[in-house]
Amino acid sequence: MEALHISNSLTRRKEKFQPLNPPFVGMYVCGPTVYSNVHLGNVRTFLTFDIVYRYLQLLNFKVRYVRNITDVGHLTGDTDDGEDKIGKKARLENLEPMEVVQQYTNDFHDVMDLFNILRPSIEPTATGHIVEQIESIKKILANGYAYEVNGSVYFNVRKFSEDHPYGELSGRKIDELMNNTRELDGQSEKRDPLDFALWKAANSSHLMQWPSPWGQGFPGWHLECSVMSTKYLGEKFDIHGGGMDLKFPHHECEIAQNIGATRCDCPVNYWMHGNMLTVNGRKMAKSEGNGFTPEELVTGNHKLLDKGYSPMTVRFFMLMGHYASTLDFSNEALQAAEKGLSKLEKAMETLSKLNPSAGEGTFDVESFENRCRAAMNDDFNTPILIATLFEGVKAINGAAAGLVALRAEDITSLQKTFQSFLREVLGIQSEKGSQEKQSNNSESEALLDLIVTMRTKAKANKDWATADKIRDVLSAYGITIQDSKDGSSWTRN
Ligand code: AMP
Ligand code: ZN
Repeated sequence: MEALHISNSLTRRKEKFQPLNPPFVGMYVCGPTVYSNVHLGNVRTFLTFDIVYRYLQLLNFKVRYVRNITDVGHLTGDTDDGEDKIGKKARLENLEPMEVVQQYTNDFHDVMDLFNILRPSIEPTATGHIVEQIESIKKILANGYAYEVNGSVYFNVRKFSEDHPYGELSGRKIDELMNNTRELDGQSEKRDPLDFALWKAANSSHLMQWPSPWGQGFPGWHLECSVMSTKYLGEKFDIHGGGMDLKFPHHECEIAQNIGATRCDCPVNYWMHGNMLTVNGRKMAKSEGNGFTPEELVTGNHKLLDKGYSPMTVRFFMLMGHYASTLDFSNEALQAAEKGLSKLEKAMETLSKLNPSAGEGTFDVESFENRCRAAMNDDFNTPILIATLFEGVKAINGAAAGLVALRAEDITSLQKTFQSFLREVLGIQSEKGSQEKQSNNSESEALLDLIVTMRTKAKANKDWATADKIRDVLSAYGITIQDSKDGSSWTRN
């Protein structure tokens, strides 16, 4: 059986996967900037790495999966002079920046759960690592790859490129980059337009700022990922992922910072990039107005949708494309996914009720399992895996019609293969399973409502001991009760 091969964006080759320290694997994926609701395009990228995470675990690797939350430093227009995306939202809505962060982090988690995308092992935040970011800037300065101007610190790309190949990941040549970048407008403090901020000085009106050796300010967007990946995975680690649109400048800058701070030659062994979800050929993005939220998808309440689709149908639809190719959204493709998934689910049910054949088996279950594995070993090729699973469906339906012979052990192996590849690797939950989860959720919500009503009654009766006890017990389960003049309500933390 062939070993796992991964397309490495850095070398542009499909390479045999060899972890630095097997069976341990370190994987870092750039997470969301939490200033707005997640759209389906974002979901596609996180789903891609969910598959990588799941399959590596199926291969018995012990994966430390780090996916960050960007809660400071990502400026509008992805420039060094825009406004902080979270700060802007906070200002417009008159909220604390951390209120914005919490609200959209909660939304992000809900959406990930809805699509059965597993939580990472560590989910660090940029604001939680200011000290480490400052330390990293000091190292880059000491190594001569950065300079300070008026309380801001910039990475010196030209100097770095004299010693290292800047632009290697995204296939850009430094001279072309220089020619294609507009001239500095005379207002900029940078020595060169390609230089990027490691630390930006903040004036007193800037909402999120911290003291540093260079004065009050905040870290540049690219720095958090360099710092948090190496803090949790080491100076050199196995896999770094993100959406294709992050290759340049974000990941290119990350590499430069890592090398600039640690002098480690090649900080990441395998760079993986998920391709974009498009609508009529255009990238799905908030700014394009073509990004539906998961609720719109489920309810069908969006002008581009003919009807609503279940989260598992949407998940299946996305896995019908290979992660490295663009995937165009269409109602037809979603309907095809709905039909396909229903066939798979029906076949699994049929399989559980099949009467085994007594004689020779006529379907090679071992080769079937091997082909499922081979598909995933070939750079996580989910469309080929799905096509292979349909060969299994054909055999099961054939057995039900008396045309294929499956022995008892064949049925057990097929069940195991479907369990491993459909449920564990592709992460497709049975509709029954997700409905059960849903109804468990609504049951627990009804119970919580009831408990909060009981507490309100206790308070009305001045039974403070009972009211406090209820609050404390719920708090231990991560449920906070808020009291207001209109009554009490609960939220999950
Ligand atoms: P953001 O919060 O905008 O930084 O995006 C979070 C992740 O979603 C990044 O890895 C992006 O590359 C990814 N992303 C954004 N738009 C799309 C899209 N249309 N298709 C796939 N991934 C996307
Ligand atoms: Zn990042």
